[in-house]
Amino acid sequence: MKIERIETFLVPPRWLFCRIETSDGVVGWGEPVVEGRAEVVRAAIDVLSEYLIGQDPLQIERHWQVLTKGGFYRGGPVLSSAVAGLDHALWDIAGKVYGAPVAALLGGRVRDRVRVYAWVGGDEPSAIGESVAEQVAAGMTAVKMNASGQIQTSPSVAEVNDIVDRLAAARAVLGDSRDVAIDLHGRVGVAAARRILHAVEDLQPMFVEEPVLPEQMAHLSSVVEASTVPVALGERLYHRADFLAPLNAGVAVVQPDVSHAGGISELRRIAVLADAHGAMLAPHCPLGPISLAASLQVSFATPNFLIQEQSRGIHYNVTSDLTSYVVDPAPFDWVNGHAEWNPLPGLGITVDEDAVRAADRTGHTWRNPVWTHEDGSFAEW
Ligand SMILES: [Mg+2]
Repeated sequence: MKIERIETFLVPPRWLFCRIETSDGVVGWGEPVVEGRAEVVRAAIDVLSEYLIGQDPLQIERHWQVLTKGGFYRGGPVLSSAVAGLDHALWDIAGKVYGAPVAALLGGRVRDRVRVYAWVGGDEPSAIGESVAEQVAAGMTAVKMNASGQIQTSPSVAEVNDIVDRLAAARAVLGDSRDVAIDLHGRVGVAAARRILHAVEDLQPMFVEEPVLPEQMAHLSSVVEASTVPVALGERLYHRADFLAPLNAGVAVVQPDVSHAGGISELRRIAVLADAHGAMLAPHCPLGPISLAASLQVSFATPNFLIQEQSRGIHYNVTSDLTSYVVDPAPFDWVNGHAEWNPLPGLGITVDEDAVRAADRTGHTWRNPVWTHEDGSFAEW
């Protein structure tokens, strides 16, 4: 069996899919994308395909080595995301060839269901309370929200208080048996992060995400030690080595993205590395159905798993959603806030190829917002 054809599809709202077809007619799907840079990843896939065409698709790790290292220059979001999508598709093919879910090929599932959390929006505390109540009514046991909207690098007292008020509004609805996490998106400085973690400590969030940017990793330990709140990060890290410094700094939760950090192969290794540091895995996944299906395979097979992100019904999936490109949405029907075990082979989903090909004819040009502070300078989104 040889790899015969590799195609990419630029599909709304902001995703890129890849499809690998073999000489035996087995097809695997992947989701190689950097949000806002999908066309660049598509070009990287074209270059990497020069090597993959004609290869045995079942030698996944051999190909992973060549794809990540063979170009001399390595790492970064574009290359690591391109490799990630190809890796998903190769694992999907392997599962279909061996007649097993990818989780079974990773050693088998270690749990029967995977806890997922829902995103809640809303700028005002009252709106947050309503959004959280909707998720609780839908059976969710955990939610996550942005800690703030646009915020100063050195926030005012009012801005910090607003973060506390939003979190308190969520906690009031959730009670003490459900969880809430907040995402700072690297929007504030190191000192402000320390202050915010201290301020929210009594509300006991499940974790606070990206309190500082990856560039400030050298100061991360002071942020971790500022409170007892678990610190999470990792959506903008792409390789196991990138996680060494934050794990040594004491982060409690790592959040690699299966579409950015080298795919199923590398997510698995990052999870093991985290385990050796007593940290847990909460895969980042605000992306599409193939990415989530790949992520769930790792989550089912990972002992030190905490919770899975997912984007069903998320506010920015306007034109299409997780279920728009799969024949059967059942794998994404949450039961009491959990993904149920899915015994289908490979990634466990059937991609609606006609829908994907039709969507690619429209494509998309999604870009993230670019924010500015009141004085006109660049603000983190
Ligand atoms: Mg985040």
